[in-house]
Amino acid sequence: MRTGHALLALTLATLVAAPLQAQRPRRSPRRTKPPPTVAVHRNVRPAIPTPRSILGFDPGDDRKLVEWPVLVRYYEALAKASDRVDYRELGKTTLGAPFIALVISSPANLGRLDYYRQLNAELADPRTQRTSRGAREAVLNGKTVVLITSSIHSTEVGGHLSPVALAYRLATDTSAATRTILDNVILWLVPSQNPDGVTIVAHWYNRTLGTPAEGTEPPELYHHYTGHDNNRDWYAFTQVETQLTVDSLHNVWHPQIVHDIHQMDANGARLFLPPYLDPVEPNVDPLLIDGVNALGSEMAWELAGQGKTGISINSTYDAWTPARAYQHYHGGVRILSETASADLASPVEIPFDRLETRSRGYNPRERSWNFTNPWRGGRWTIRDIVAYQTDGAYALLAHAAAQREHWLANFLTIETRAVRGWREWPYAYVIPARQDSIALSAMLGILHRGDVEIRTALQPFTLQGQRHAAGTYVIVLRQPYAAFAKTLLEVQHYPDRRLYPNGPPEKPYDVTAHTLPLLLGVNAIVATDSLRVPLSAPIQLRAVPFVPPLGDAPRIGLYKSYKAAIDEGWTRWVFDNWKVPYSSVVDSVLRAGKLKDHFDVIILPDQSPQEILEGLPSRYPAPYAGGVGSEGSEALRQFVNDGGTLIALNDASRFAIQALLLPVRNVLEATSEEDFYAPGSIFRLELDTTQAIARGLPHETIGWFEGGPAFEVLDTAAARVVGHWPDDPARLLLSGWVLHPERIAGKAAIVEVQQGAGRVILFGMRPQYRGQSIATYPLLFKSLRGQ
Ligand SMILES: [Zn+2]
Repeated sequence: MRTGHALLALTLATLVAAPLQAQRPRRSPRRTKPPPTVAVHRNVRPAIPTPRSILGFDPGDDRKLVEWPVLVRYYEALAKASDRVDYRELGKTTLGAPFIALVISSPANLGRLDYYRQLNAELADPRTQRTSRGAREAVLNGKTVVLITSSIHSTEVGGHLSPVALAYRLATDTSAATRTILDNVILWLVPSQNPDGVTIVAHWYNRTLGTPAEGTEPPELYHHYTGHDNNRDWYAFTQVETQLTVDSLHNVWHPQIVHDIHQMDANGARLFLPPYLDPVEPNVDPLLIDGVNALGSEMAWELAGQGKTGISINSTYDAWTPARAYQHYHGGVRILSETASADLASPVEIPFDRLETRSRGYNPRERSWNFTNPWRGGRWTIRDIVAYQTDGAYALLAHAAAQREHWLANFLTIETRAVRGWREWPYAYVIPARQDSIALSAMLGILHRGDVEIRTALQPFTLQGQRHAAGTYVIVLRQPYAAFAKTLLEVQHYPDRRLYPNGPPEKPYDVTAHTLPLLLGVNAIVATDSLRVPLSAPIQLRAVPFVPPLGDAPRIGLYKSYKAAIDEGWTRWVFDNWKVPYSSVVDSVLRAGKLKDHFDVIILPDQSPQEILEGLPSRYPAPYAGGVGSEGSEALRQFVNDGGTLIALNDASRFAIQALLLPVRNVLEATSEEDFYAPGSIFRLELDTTQAIARGLPHETIGWFEGGPAFEVLDTAAARVVGHWPDDPARLLLSGWVLHPERIAGKAAIVEVQQGAGRVILFGMRPQYRGQSIATYPLLFKSLRGQ
């Protein structure tokens, strides 16, 4: 086998060298005379490299993964050899790897990319069209723009390889179906939305192959800062990978269809496709939901026709949050596909009777309208995953090609409605210019990056009896991406959905609130009717000077579990961005004790007590197995007794209460979801501003509440309440959803406990939630300071 590879590679190398120069210019329509070599040497054009020739295996072979640089090599070679594929490096990832995209279409289309980009931009903003004839021509002549992103979640390893298989197929296939796709679609393929994670996971997988840890998750976050949360970043834009895709693809190419390739767990359906479950976030244009439903259903139909089983639609995933669906607010659909997983690239055996019986919206063992042909169980491999993903993406492209005119006409309709404005929507949001400059610039920065037009009032004006100065920011909700601004600026009223009347909650797929003015602590005022003031043209934003929050920094240790906790990553991201110095602390350091010699403050990010204590199971090699254990707990107790400050965030507070026997009780400890539920909501938080941690903050702020504890102080001499939830349950919820707010009304949210010479600060909330809740960062920063 090995010799075979080498030979093939050698042959390819010699073939690739010569005719490339000749081939390139064919794409340029401006070139008057095509070089004669093209026609003459057509049969000796460099052969298109097979995946095997560069990867060393076929995508889908059992137990085969490669790191990112090898995949990049393949895409570069493919683009060099194929006149259907262009390669672009969009920038660098968080850890410095190339972040790339391929554009795939017919050679003729690739030669006129600027023209098609321009046509699509005209459809995206109907205000640019002077005549309806121009619009009609753009629809007739344009191409469906499709963006496919893969492997944002790096343990979903089929997504490392499916883009290879798809790109190779599109570059080589001569069928009429593929020609129709190439002629009618401009495909932007981001083969990994998280290249760093491809390397992290492939490296770990290859290192543990043949050991008891084969197929396990790596003992670190697969995105340096955000781990699995990296696909919840599509409005906050905190990470460079999100920024690159939004800035260079979404906002330039305005795709009508975005397809995000994922995997789910192994024990349910083989494939999920939209329609999504309710609730759909109400600002998404209805025609986009129709498009999602049509396209998802057609993909499912097509794949079923190929004999694929276990396909579920309208299950598990809702469409509430813009955090995962940028395009739903930018004129296009976002099609999620979720294929069943194996153990990374190692096969699994799943007998039919071990399939879950209770999945949301269907039963994997029973036929139903949205799960028409159950999978019969058995062996499930990475080849199956790659086949479902690649054929799924191909079915999507075939639909995008066949329905090109439909997609473009509907895109124009959606954007025409957006610039005209929806009757029931307010006219604008008014944002005073004189407020906290960092929070304000963060909010305007998000809107600006989301392609929202921000204007300023050219004269003073009055709104609801309030005088506003010239220079006040105004977001008029009659513009192409008004829905993006509206959903982020308004309060969310998540519907009260139960499994049966008065029963347990029907759980949302993710959190329920994303109101930026609350998260950031910025004042934004609704203007129902049009303002009687002249407005500027859309403005550009200026950077705001930044001052680190800690002057004299203490020695900060940030606990980093090998059972990687996403909140640990977010905490690092916040500290790195706000120039807060810290060092990461792993289990062995905690267990070794004498912590006060090294640290003044130790932070336990949001993580369950069990994960902190026990960490990873024993199938992991040293030093990864086991958590802080009893030694680590004892060392933390000693650290506090010696005068250290221990800060426990959200669920980690429960660990601290147990491990340090604090005189504090979590009132939600044994509460069922029927009795209290808040899956990620913004609450009103009342602060005791006489306490150091809350000094200088407003008496009332927000608290990001996500399944966390709520405290009752048992010994008021030792424990002080810094912040508490309102006594009146009706005042608790600011945005999102809560069931039975009375359960935590009046309970403590932030508690400072004196113990020995030190203290423990418990947060029953997430003060630095996903790098978004700037309003409550000061609570965390002030906790870091000495007493
Ligand atoms: Zn995923």
